[in-house]
Amino acid sequence: MIEDKEYDFLIVGSGLYGCVFAHEATKRGKRCLIIDKRAHSGGNVYCEKMEDINVHQYGAHIFHTNDKGIWDYVNNFVEFNRYTNSPVANYKGTLYNLPFNMNTFYQLWKVQTPAEAKEKIQSQVEESMVAVPANLREQALSLVGTDIYDKLIKGYTEKQWGRPAEQLPAFIIKRLPVRFTFDNNYFDDKYQGIPIGGYNKLTEGLLKGIEVKLETDYFAEREKWDSLASQIVFTGNIDQFYNYRFGRLEYRSLRFEHQVYNTVNLQGNAVINYTEREIPYTRTIEHKHFEFGNQPKTVVTKEYPEEWTPEKEAYYPINDERNTKIFKEYNKLAKQEQHTLFGGRLATYKYYDMHQVIASALHAVAVHFKEQPINHL
Ligand code: FAD
Ligand code: UDP
Repeated sequence: MIEDKEYDFLIVGSGLYGCVFAHEATKRGKRCLIIDKRAHSGGNVYCEKMEDINVHQYGAHIFHTNDKGIWDYVNNFVEFNRYTNSPVANYKGTLYNLPFNMNTFYQLWKVQTPAEAKEKIQSQVEESMVAVPANLREQALSLVGTDIYDKLIKGYTEKQWGRPAEQLPAFIIKRLPVRFTFDNNYFDDKYQGIPIGGYNKLTEGLLKGIEVKLETDYFAEREKWDSLASQIVFTGNIDQFYNYRFGRLEYRSLRFEHQVYNTVNLQGNAVINYTEREIPYTRTIEHKHFEFGNQPKTVVTKEYPEEWTPEKEAYYPINDERNTKIFKEYNKLAKQEQHTLFGGRLATYKYYDMHQVIASALHAVAVHFKEQPINHL
């Protein structure tokens, strides 16, 4: 059946998923319209200039991947620099290197060799007596023992997620490497960096020649948008798409406080994590260090985790038991849709990094256009 619609695809959301899908569909000769409720495109990777510094408006974004295909893909649109993320943790005024590595172990216990560090951790792991880790606390204790859990994980995790670590899924902490080398690189991936000139170069490159309507909420005129295109690509909240019929999914929100300082270098590192519970923000970001900037002033952002309410931005899905169960119900409906495809962090309710979102969009395009999918996932 040939439908006479103005567009082949209406894409709800101009985050990385929407941008990649629209770019690839346009490349295949399809007519795409993107709408986004925000006043800018790019979703959570969007940057704004302050004092000539690219400020990550929605939290620090460091691109990393093990997949050469994805690395080459993003480098087609913008060159990436050699930035390596090495956050420093501040616990009650003492600094520790992250991720957990020989530098951290030395700072904590003065151990100098991997064998000494392993012995120390092993004795603490045994003391904690976790057989099969069932939650984040148990997973952390069985990976790194009590000292690291108490100083570097518990406080940060509980303020970040707004609930006890016992109620959080174990996989969240498995994101962080544990290493017995003196290596402060936060990621294990082969490729890592920041787009030179900021993430907007990446999203603008992807969106070149594609029509985007901003400050446009899909739900405000749903029928109108549905009537315009043969296919919808939806990257917003999946529970809202189905009118919350199985209940609301929960998210964690954030508040960002950006401040200009009249100094060249305030904290000496792009990311400092505050791991004690009593300090209300989780991390401070000095953006210029992402691009090795030497501007006369600096901009530092404090990231405050917040309870999510429907009028706030939904930043993190909370993949606990309750929400996972609800999501499965929505996902069953989503899989039956003939004209709507769901993608990205909000619609698939997944704690996805950028490279995973890009990989999943490329995969969806391949499936949709009946091409051989490249296994990036
Ligand atoms: P989004 O970027 O959220 O885009 C969704 C878009 O849809 C938004 O622009 C939104 O306005 C729009 N939208 C939603 N509903 C509607 C509607 N009803 N109508 C119209 N438009 C709508 N990943 C990394 O790889 N490295 C990092 O260092 C990293 N750091 C992060 C730090 C923070 C604080 C956060 C929150 C995420 C981080 N991520 C990081 C993850 C990264 O942001 C995501 O993987 C990626 O940006 C998700 O892209 P997306 O298109 O799925 O969603
Ligand atoms: N985490 C922690 N201490 C830290 C940094 C991270 O306990 O100093 C835990 C915390 O639970 C966090 C998770 O590890 O939510 C994942 O950290 P990551 O830095 O990947 O978080 P993101 O950048 O996605 O917010």
